[in-house]
Amino acid sequence: MEPKTKDLWVFIETYPDGSAQNVGLELLNPGRELAEKQGGKLVGLVLGHNTDAAVKAVQEHGADQVIVIDGEEYEHFTTDAYVNALYEVVTKYAPTTMLIGATNNGRDVGPRLSSRLQTGLTADCTKLGYDEETGNIAWTRPAFGGNLMATILCPNHRPQLGTVRPGVFKAAEPEEGRTCEVIKEDIHVAPEDIRTRLIKEIKEDASEMVDLVGADVIVSGGRGVGGPEGYEPLQELADALGGVVGASRAAVDAGWIAHSHQVGQTGKTVGPKLYIACGISGAIQHVAGMSSSDCIVAINKDEEAPIFDIADYGVVGDLFAVVPALTAEVKKI
Ligand code: FAD
Repeated sequence: MEPKTKDLWVFIETYPDGSAQNVGLELLNPGRELAEKQGGKLVGLVLGHNTDAAVKAVQEHGADQVIVIDGEEYEHFTTDAYVNALYEVVTKYAPTTMLIGATNNGRDVGPRLSSRLQTGLTADCTKLGYDEETGNIAWTRPAFGGNLMATILCPNHRPQLGTVRPGVFKAAEPEEGRTCEVIKEDIHVAPEDIRTRLIKEIKEDASEMVDLVGADVIVSGGRGVGGPEGYEPLQELADALGGVVGASRAAVDAGWIAHSHQVGQTGKTVGPKLYIACGISGAIQHVAGMSSSDCIVAINKDEEAPIFDIADYGVVGDLFAVVPALTAEVKKI
């Protein structure tokens, strides 16, 4: 598809209540610089139902323009409705680039949209850049089981599409009351063209759920915790700091803690203010999911552990001595 503009679009996925999902607001942040490099506008594409809150958030997070598609059929995600709506609006405006959050839904619509548009898609990116020489977005993603970080350029097709993991970028501070141009697109999908419908929502057991991506503090435990009971002192420290407990894959695979706690390439990508890694060696696949944390503290009894290479503070010692001592100090504050 020939691009009609040099604009960079960010897909703003919404919740059923019409508010914006964080990942879209996060992507507006790198999107600003990339749009300028491309020589186009930064556009937030909002799709959902009763989306006023999302539109306001996109304006306050620095978009030059918001395009909104609002309709009852978009309240709950369905692949057919979302892909049809996105295809229609993208072919109408033909932007140069589109960023999509790699949520479950983003991972569903991204490839289908790229196939309908006959263009490429770089999935699950963890870094974005701009290749000045060729004028393409430089998409970086883990490859070969996370052993390599591959940077991919898409010089031949437009729009260039990519999904980006939630939590990789931080949203900019919102500028309250900021506004920009809002274009409403009256795009609807006939019910008979939507092959799936929501019958019932089944919530997972809340005790198994953890909001790792939104947490400011994560106390994470690896194989070094030794068993499920090894998470108790970590949970106490997390509670004292107002945080949540994370885990390495080794601990999840051992069945010591639920997969929803896993940080890393095949778990969540997190960027808390404080990440405390306890008994975690620092394998590349783990680090891929937490290296953008503001402050990393490592507690490990092996002073050679690679986690110390990326830690801001390191404690060489037994986590079962260090963690309770830390909790006791935190409780004094
Ligand atoms: P280990 O590497 O065994 O390290 C345990 C550490 O605990 C050691 O450094 C040891 O010194 C320390 N220790 C032991 N006892 C104590 C104690 N009492 N006090 C203090 N320190 C102690 N891993 C992830 O975490 N997330 C992923 O998403 C992920 N995805 C992967 C995807 C692929 C395709 C592959 C191939 C691997 C993936 N892995 C992932 C696995 C990864 O390669 C490592 O195997 C894993 O991260 C190791 O977990 P660990 O650090 O807990 O265990």
